[in-house]
Amino acid sequence: MLRLTELRLPLDHPPEALPAAIARRLGVAPAEIVDFAVFKRGHDARKPERLAFIYTVDVALKNEAAALKKHARDRSVGKAPDTSYRFVAQAPASLRSRPVVVGFGPCGIFAALLLAQMGFRPIVLERGKAVRERTQDTWGLWRRHALDPESNVQFGEGGAGTFSDGKLYSQIKDPRFLGRKVMAEFVKAGAPEEILYVSKPHIGTFRLVSMVERMRAEIVALGGEIRFQQRVVGLDIEAGCVRGVRLASGETLAADRVVLALGHSARDTFEALHAQGVYMEPKPFSIGFRIEHPQSLIDAARFGPHAGNPLLGAADYKLVHHAANGRAVYSFCMCPGGTVVAATSEPGRVVTNGMSQYSRNERNANAGLVVNVNPEDYGGSAENPLAGIAFQRALESRAFELGGGNYEAPAQLVGDFLAGRPSTALGSVEPSYQPGVKLTDLSTALPAYAIEAMREALPAFGRQIKGFDMSDAVLTGVETRTSSPVRIVRGEDFQGVNVKGLYPAGEGAGYAGGILSAGVDGIKVAEAVARDIVAAA
Ligand SMILES: Cc1cc2nc3c(=O)[nH]c(=O)nc-3n(C[C@H](O)[C@H](O)[C@H](O)COP(=O)(O)OP(=O)(O)OC[C@H]3O[C@@H](n4cnc5c(N)ncnc54)[C@H](O)[C@@H]3O)c2cc1C
Repeated sequence: MLRLTELRLPLDHPPEALPAAIARRLGVAPAEIVDFAVFKRGHDARKPERLAFIYTVDVALKNEAAALKKHARDRSVGKAPDTSYRFVAQAPASLRSRPVVVGFGPCGIFAALLLAQMGFRPIVLERGKAVRERTQDTWGLWRRHALDPESNVQFGEGGAGTFSDGKLYSQIKDPRFLGRKVMAEFVKAGAPEEILYVSKPHIGTFRLVSMVERMRAEIVALGGEIRFQQRVVGLDIEAGCVRGVRLASGETLAADRVVLALGHSARDTFEALHAQGVYMEPKPFSIGFRIEHPQSLIDAARFGPHAGNPLLGAADYKLVHHAANGRAVYSFCMCPGGTVVAATSEPGRVVTNGMSQYSRNERNANAGLVVNVNPEDYGGSAENPLAGIAFQRALESRAFELGGGNYEAPAQLVGDFLAGRPSTALGSVEPSYQPGVKLTDLSTALPAYAIEAMREALPAFGRQIKGFDMSDAVLTGVETRTSSPVRIVRGEDFQGVNVKGLYPAGEGAGYAGGILSAGVDGIKVAEAVARDIVAAA
């Protein structure tokens, strides 16, 4: 196979234009093409009036060697890499101790799936409920102001990304194409096939629910087990080695290898593990608000005359501003045509995030507008690695208070935020946050350095996306769980630096920052566990 990059075609090109363009670029007759597959399709929105699709295609030719020779100096033609996935181990016939996976979010799902596919029959312990029951509980907060601390946006089958936009892109280095394995498994479980080739794939929340169920069914069919409402409260550790996991029920499950795929909201578990001496460090994360605009404003700014073209869908954006006070302000987890969601897992706290359906056809665009914070900002140190959790909690409690103490979120119009006055009435942008917002002054919701940096960034973003700093845009607070406040440090063998047999993984342990990267980390950790079991057999 050859790989051909940078093939530009008009947005409305007919299907036959692609093979014709391939033949033209390679200088071969169309009959020379045996087969081709689109590897990636993106669009460059920097010049909206000249928007076009840009393809990367893999092509099989009758005479590939000749084409390679002819294009030896052309960097857009080369050999296509082998992206297929190969298992690294197979479980021994007599498997003495089954690996345990704690948490069934994207990281735990992929760790368990890979272990099951290699024959290791993992046992998964998940504190929340199966995804359909969990969905009902999550709606309880959004519709009835009622939070279930064990079954919500953060906790339960599918993990934090279940009620999300299901964006599946990441900037991780992936020389082994493990991201392709994640995507291929998602497609097998019911994701649209286009996620394999569009440059910014997304699934939307609705499909994720049934996909998670199908992946669970595969793990079970391969001999794995998923146990819901099983909260891990500690480990049995002997001479620096894991010997078991302790559950809230009082039961202890013997285990020599435990994958810890907890997610960033398992604060009680971080505290318990720290108290047991599991080594962890504080890490940077970001804090801010969600910002909402009409989606039509973002489409017009990004796509110009092509705004509304169904081939392009709802436009996204990515913005960064380096403020004079040294802070970076950036857009986070942008959800085109989506809604702002209540994402707390703790009573008496308010946290925002965003989600979309696959269609992305809600009226508003939303994104986190966040500012980086470092351990020194919140008193984090090797001796006090949990300080970031206390910092997040204080901000989330303050937001709860500003929102009126009933899980409504504090909100302010951008015009009022910039002018330093509280908001008293909404303008043209209707906020989407459920169970509702309370208009207020957000300037006391975050530390002064964050407010100052955001006030500087908004007009700068307005120069990049016309109307971004419109007076009626709505800010909703607070966004505090952009990533984990701790890293549970692991060595090159993927095991905890002071606890052998413990495999800290995914976002909660500080090794991923999104669905795709959490899935990839789950695969890497499953491989490490499998290799270790085989080596010890
Ligand atoms: C509303 C929302 C929207 C998002 N949108 C996107 C998006 O569009 N794209 C994207 O890439 N990312 C998105 N994210 C982030 C993404 O969801 C996370 O990066 C990802 O889920 C991390 O995967 P994980 O498996 O490491 O952890 P999680 O998904 O957090 O899963 C951890 C699991 O562990 C369980 N658990 C925790 N403690 C225990 C315990 N003590 N015992 C047993 N089980 C336990 C939890 O219940 C949970 O199910 C979004 C997040 C949220 C909240």
